[in-house]
Amino acid sequence: MSQALVARVRGFIDRHCIPIESAAHVHDPAAMDAALAQLRPLARELGLYLPQMPVQEGGLGLSWVARAAVFEEAGRSYLGPAALNCAAPDQPNMISLLRQGTAAQRERYLRPLAEGRIRSCFAMTEPAPGAGSDPSMLRTNARRDGDGWVIDGHKWFITGAVGAVFCIVLAQTDEGPTQFIVDMDNPGLHLVRAIKALDPYAVGGHGELRFTACRVGGDAVLGEVGQGLAYAQQRLEPARLSHCLRLLGRARRAMEAAQAYVCERSSFGERLADLQQVQAMVADCHIDLHASRLMSLDCARRMDEGLSVKTESAMTKVFVSEALGRIADRASQLCGALGMSEDDAPVALIVRELRPFRIYDGASELHRATLGRRFLKT
Ligand SMILES: Cc1cc2nc3c(=O)[nH]c(=O)nc-3n(C[C@H](O)[C@H](O)[C@H](O)COP(=O)(O)OP(=O)(O)OC[C@H]3O[C@@H](n4cnc5c(N)ncnc54)[C@H](O)[C@@H]3O)c2cc1C
Repeated sequence: MSQALVARVRGFIDRHCIPIESAAHVHDPAAMDAALAQLRPLARELGLYLPQMPVQEGGLGLSWVARAAVFEEAGRSYLGPAALNCAAPDQPNMISLLRQGTAAQRERYLRPLAEGRIRSCFAMTEPAPGAGSDPSMLRTNARRDGDGWVIDGHKWFITGAVGAVFCIVLAQTDEGPTQFIVDMDNPGLHLVRAIKALDPYAVGGHGELRFTACRVGGDAVLGEVGQGLAYAQQRLEPARLSHCLRLLGRARRAMEAAQAYVCERSSFGERLADLQQVQAMVADCHIDLHASRLMSLDCARRMDEGLSVKTESAMTKVFVSEALGRIADRASQLCGALGMSEDDAPVALIVRELRPFRIYDGASELHRATLGRRFLKT
């Protein structure tokens, strides 16, 4: 069943997503949304929609191991994961709402999100001197006001913010960091700008947000007051793994393009594919792909078994984000000038997509510092 499903996802990506990929989608959330509106009904019709959600929520109810291969296949196209509605930040937001949402919050926010009628975002990071790698530097605050709360603060790099209907925001309260659900049309929430980041294809771009005397009701709290950091931590482990899996597909796609190129192209009378230096680069890419897949699958298996992935997900995220970067870099080198063109092949844009992965979901240096301390027990 699982292999047949993976083959169907591959067919959907090859037949429907890749043909409508376009350099014109770069930094254009409206164009991306239009492409997704075309793809999602098809994904639903083909039984590929919402692989990560339980069946009773309209999903396919796949285990982590089963969804790993689906995420990788979907990730070959930048349109694939969102077409299946398993892209960040909606995918981890659905998990948060499922775990921490009240019945009313699930009805109001989770249901339309799962049905693909709306998009959402998750706002934790702040410009200096606020929270970045160190979440304890959180400056956005929420104070009680009658039955509700008033939020003030500044967030940036909030993926999906352009066109989102709601935002899950992390704010400091007297009782500790707390998650709030804020409607994006709240008059106290202002989308300052869409940040043109290096990565070209984030659905809903990356927004800078200002909360100014932003009033929300008591029912805007997601989960328990004061538990926001614990929830963010719980969110990040599966979110990291999902990113690894989707982007594994993207790196594989870069290699597919590079391999096709070196098999066709000749230099000084020899096919590039027959040159040992080229063969070694291709081999190194496959070694990185294989190791990345195995590390990700081990995390997936542990999660299915209910085991902690605190250490494993950090090691996997560091290795995979760096390995995928190496693969994309070699793939672009193998393609020569073609690997530098954003119009003629997917590789250059994949290089751009993969670079920020070493920063979000915890920078490599932060994970190494934490892992090193944990192993040395300091
Ligand atoms: C494309 C993209 C999408 C994002 N999407 C979201 C989103 O949807 N929501 C959201 O809330 N945030 C998002 N972010 C923000 C992301 O989570 C932060 O960039 C990340 O947590 C790092 O924080 P910072 O940028 O403030 O870097 P800083 O904390 O300023 O760190 C800068 C650099 O210092 C080094 N460093 C930091 N701490 C340590 C340490 N302890 N030990 C060693 N070296 C260290 C690292 O090299 C790090 O890259 C996104 C970022 C990017 C690039």
